[in-house]
Amino acid sequence: MTVHTGRHFLQIPGPTNVPDRVLRAMDMPTLDHRGPEFAELGLHVIAAMQRVFRTKQPVIIYPSSGTGAWEAAIVNTLSSGDKVLMAETGQFATLWRGLAEKFKLDIDFVPGDWRHGADLAEIEKRLAADKSHAIKAVMIVHNETSTGCVTHPQDVRKIMDRVKHPALLMVDTVSGLGSLEYEHDAWGIDVSVAGSQKGLMLPPGLGFNAVSDKALAASKTNSSFRSYWDWEEIIAANKLGSWPYTPATNLLYALKEGVAMLEEEGLDNVFARHKRHGAAARAAVKAWGLETVSIESHDHSPALTAVLMPEGHDADKFRKVVLENFDMSLGTGLNKWKGKIFRIGHIGHFNDLMLMGTLAGVEMGLELAKVPHRAGGVMAAMDVLTGKSVVPMTKAA
Ligand code: PLP
Repeated sequence: MTVHTGRHFLQIPGPTNVPDRVLRAMDMPTLDHRGPEFAELGLHVIAAMQRVFRTKQPVIIYPSSGTGAWEAAIVNTLSSGDKVLMAETGQFATLWRGLAEKFKLDIDFVPGDWRHGADLAEIEKRLAADKSHAIKAVMIVHNETSTGCVTHPQDVRKIMDRVKHPALLMVDTVSGLGSLEYEHDAWGIDVSVAGSQKGLMLPPGLGFNAVSDKALAASKTNSSFRSYWDWEEIIAANKLGSWPYTPATNLLYALKEGVAMLEEEGLDNVFARHKRHGAAARAAVKAWGLETVSIESHDHSPALTAVLMPEGHDADKFRKVVLENFDMSLGTGLNKWKGKIFRIGHIGHFNDLMLMGTLAGVEMGLELAKVPHRAGGVMAAMDVLTGKSVVPMTKAA
């Protein structure tokens, strides 16, 4: 067995590298979650997450993965038979749809080719045609982690306002929050869904909902069965910094530290950093003569870059070569992209040299795995990072 030295490169698009500061912050005696010290922590992290979501509304923190927060968004606001409009952007939109199906929602799924953000023209058409306002929610994935394509929630909000559609707007920003600009209140989002293990730089284990007044009102009249996910009881307990059940105490210490790190850097600088790394990664891909999954610059994700393998080459074999030789994990292709793409995560706790190490690992891996490519991707990325070449960033959303 090869013994790897130095640090493992965890360059999947989440879970992301957890900073030492966050690990140390978690390394604390577990508190009495009904005691005064915990209440202080509870109130602190709720306020911190309101700043990250950019909302004055309640933020609910679940001891769950992102999937739990998806389910919470549905069971609080929607009932079996309710019509919802979703958009096929990739595997995560497809999984959310699958979950919605289990709750017997009536899903209108706008088709997509897994290489773009949501088809906004089609969303507008379907909303405009819904004169009786049968559609109760529009549900989109902000940063589609399976493709590296972004759907800009503010564009969807503009459409809904333009056609005067009263549906709730629900946004999965599991891999967007803390990496891509996000404005829960200013963009008129009704339910935001997020998770701890991406831009927030925590281990997996926390799920989040940020909820508008309109979503809260919908939850009050919604008769769907729910208990663990019910917003009302949690929001009531949260007023005193507690939860109706045992919260993930040590992950909340981590959350406090993760948000402190984001705020020390400044959220706008965090977003700019991700954009810059996205631009450099795409410059590398272009120089290798390969193609990104995302086609339009408007859709390119600042958090990850998904790369198509040349015909006849298996992306997972290539990933294995990279893992065995350089101890670096790259993201696998999911569902219809299995074996056809690999994903480079440049999200979360990350810097220029980590990006260069990552891209060097990819370039050496391409060589060792005999994947046809041109040399020079690493150089092209360096030119972006040093400002020698100026490349378009993604939409200044
Ligand atoms: N939504 C998106 C965009 C994701 O990337 C993920 C996970 O990677 C999820 C939802 C599901 O989250 P989890 O795996 O934490 O349940």
